[in-house]
Amino acid sequence: MEKLKMETWPSGITTISGGNRTTIKLSRPWQKDIEMNPKTCPFCTRKQKVLDEYKNDKGEKWQLIQNLYTPFPYHKMVIPRLCGEENKWPKEEIRRLGGIARIKKALQIASIELNSQDALNRFIQLQIHVGPYAGQTIGHLHYHFLEQVPQPKPLATLMNLGIYAVENPASEIFESDNWTINVGGERAGQCYIIPKEKPVDFDTTAIEEMANLIASLIHIYEKSFTSEQGLAPDYMIVIRFMERKICYGTYVPILNQWGGTEYMGLTEGTSIVLPWPHEETAKYIKGGK
Ligand SMILES: [Zn+2]
Repeated sequence: MEKLKMETWPSGITTISGGNRTTIKLSRPWQKDIEMNPKTCPFCTRKQKVLDEYKNDKGEKWQLIQNLYTPFPYHKMVIPRLCGEENKWPKEEIRRLGGIARIKKALQIASIELNSQDALNRFIQLQIHVGPYAGQTIGHLHYHFLEQVPQPKPLATLMNLGIYAVENPASEIFESDNWTINVGGERAGQCYIIPKEKPVDFDTTAIEEMANLIASLIHIYEKSFTSEQGLAPDYMIVIRFMERKICYGTYVPILNQWGGTEYMGLTEGTSIVLPWPHEETAKYIKGGK
């Protein structure tokens, strides 16, 4: 029997993995596809509180809107104006966030907002949920741009992520000019997006690099982790900003379901159990699967 591996993440939460359970499983009979109906979609049919409107190169309308149903004082959303296949948003495109050009458009809008007066001195994060198990309740693609309360400790997290990347070089699955992508965290398959040196300005160059990086990450997981039932993983991506710079990010695919041990991990502070070790995910991806 292989040894159990226990790891502590920046949150302070620990995971254990290993024992006689190390095999990656691709059967996800519980996963559901994204459902979308422009005729009943709240973003397409209801009047939104539109804060700003943009167009991409292909003339597609994008909007920054106010989220009207939120516990947070600051919570906006970035959305394409319309969804549905007739508007070139079939489900497969939503799973890919529409590809590099559309990811870039969403990040550009986020960057304009990040530099606005309203966002000044806020601890903002950009969140995207894809698929029902990743918390996507409305099929129409939408990015959340919000300030969570109470305020987090992004610097401590960043420092811990930096240490993790240095101490676990085998966890790196790819890199770009300014970022390394390392498998790790509370969920199987999770990755951290870690700056090589320091947080970077959210400018045109960073938007380009981040859009490419996100598209690559989605592509890698689609290639490696499409289920036996034929669905690419549900996932969320969160990007943390600090003082108007991109600080770090995380990609969280939903490759297994959480049960009693995982929720007790949160309730009692015991370890969350990973269905297979992170090092198996890294090996599997780097093996070209
Ligand atoms: Zn819609």
